[in-house]
Amino acid sequence: MGTNNIKVPAVFLDRDGTVIFDKNYLSLPEQVKLYSYAADSINRLRAAGFKVIIVTNQSGVTRQIFTEQDLRKIHKRFEFLLKKAGAKIDAIYYCPHTDKNFCNCRKPKPGMVLQGAKDFNINLEKSYTVGDSIRDYLLGYNAGGKGILTLTGRGKKQQTEIAQEKIKPMAICKTLKEAVSLIIKDAEES
Ligand SMILES: [Mg+2]
Ligand SMILES: [Zn+2]
Repeated sequence: MGTNNIKVPAVFLDRDGTVIFDKNYLSLPEQVKLYSYAADSINRLRAAGFKVIIVTNQSGVTRQIFTEQDLRKIHKRFEFLLKKAGAKIDAIYYCPHTDKNFCNCRKPKPGMVLQGAKDFNINLEKSYTVGDSIRDYLLGYNAGGKGILTLTGRGKKQQTEIAQEKIKPMAICKTLKEAVSLIIKDAEES
């Protein structure tokens, strides 16, 4: 087997409320604001051998709050700010649909993660998701890996709802920073 057959682990990060501040239906590049620990957290994951991929539900497209072109500008700004802070992500995938579209990509459906796994030769069993919504951690399990909830963004409000979910997160972390430390430790131990 060639080295190109070796699968790598990944961390799939939610965007809003996890890496950047949550604005309800963020629609302008100027609204993108990184959490102070975002760049460092991404760098630590990459240094530990993870691909870092953003997976984000952007139903604002279908709701006609913003266009896919707006979204491209927003993501350009997002990647520019990360670059300025010394960090780089491997890819961004977004779902433009609402629940009514019954697509395969809207989190917690695993479509975006499966696409990323194909594009980057990812070992999903050794991969993680991190986000501030129940959808984000369920995604991790739906894709065959693990999921962590953060208490940033909408995370705190989700805590009571988690009680009703059959599947619980691997952990509930204060921020992405804490989640990254836990992932690196968990990956070393397993
Ligand atoms: Mg979010
Ligand atoms: Zn979709």
